Amino acid sequence: MVTEEQVTTALKQVFVPTAEQSVIDLNLVRKITIADKNITVTLASTALADEVQNFVAAGVKSALQQFKNTVVQVDFVAAKPQELNEIKNIVAVMSGKGGVGKSTVAVNIAVALAQSGARVGLMDADIYGPNIPTMLGVEKLPPPNGNKLVPAVAYDVKMISMGLLVKPGQPLIWRGPMLNSAIRQFLADVEWGELDYLIVDLPPGTGDAALSLAQALPLSGAIIVTLPQLVSLEDASRGLQMFRTLEVPILGVIENMSYLDLPDGTRMDIFGSGGGEQLAQATQTPFLGKIPIDQNVRIGGDSGKPIVISHPDSPVAKALREIAESLAAKISVAALGGKNELPINIVE
Ligand code: ADP
Repeated sequence: MVTEEQVTTALKQVFVPTAEQSVIDLNLVRKITIADKNITVTLASTALADEVQNFVAAGVKSALQQFKNTVVQVDFVAAKPQELNEIKNIVAVMSGKGGVGKSTVAVNIAVALAQSGARVGLMDADIYGPNIPTMLGVEKLPPPNGNKLVPAVAYDVKMISMGLLVKPGQPLIWRGPMLNSAIRQFLADVEWGELDYLIVDLPPGTGDAALSLAQALPLSGAIIVTLPQLVSLEDASRGLQMFRTLEVPILGVIENMSYLDLPDGTRMDIFGSGGGEQLAQATQTPFLGKIPIDQNVRIGGDSGKPIVISHPDSPVAKALREIAESLAAKISVAALGGKNELPINIVE
């Protein structure tokens, strides 16, 4: 009789075209059942587009043809773990490259949503530069509750960060399996409680880490943070493409560090201008707004007081609040359209 191990070995040859990795590397196999002649492989659909699911299902069948006289069935299940049913919307914040203000936007939007009365969580999944604890002035997590991690709370936002899970000074070297298990832990082993929004700060770029995270999370949508200059647009549009492939709705583009207002009333476009709007237009994505440059953003970030708290009346804070509001509106529209339901496809 065929063993589970033999099936697993065969599945290593089944590649997901959009990710160029196998279903095993991507940790998509949820169950392998072998009963008599019947082999059933259950895979997480994890936002895989329908045609990708069909391609993968065909790949599984062809890889298992080597086991003669067997009937192979491939099922897909939505990847939303039981624990996440209490979380209404999971929104990823991404950027084409580092340093554009992705974490700053994630933190301030989370705090602004909490200020408006929503129940908000913030997952710092930027494993290469987990700086959200500093931005929120959090040094450590509360003691775990049994085997569940308990998030820290700052400005009414529940927060968890990879940066708080490793010892200071310990290098963060993530290999596939480690990353996958860390993501699973972030998803399932955190006592989030009921949340209206879970904002996820993804690693910058469209590399493996960002991709596996985006695939592992049952995302309601994604927002892209970019600079006004055209060079950063190319990276950002790759990010857009990644979410499109994963069938995650793009909630919009945010242009950060758009301009600097000088004391004499003039405005300086330090990083060029108009790039965010251009990207939104070119990709038919909503433009969520511009955030000006203000040194208080950095000062607030370094001292653990986000600008929507430290300077609530500043133009930056105002822009961030407006973006948070329009984001909330877009999410509820997307939810009404049922777009945040992951497809469950049974392939015969
Ligand atoms: P990323 O997450 O994209 O790497 P960060 O959010 O860490 O970027 O921001 C990079 C640096 O730029 C931080 O020091 C941050 O305080 C600063 N910064 C971000 N947005 C602004 C802004 N609008 N005005 C001034 N400084 C900003």
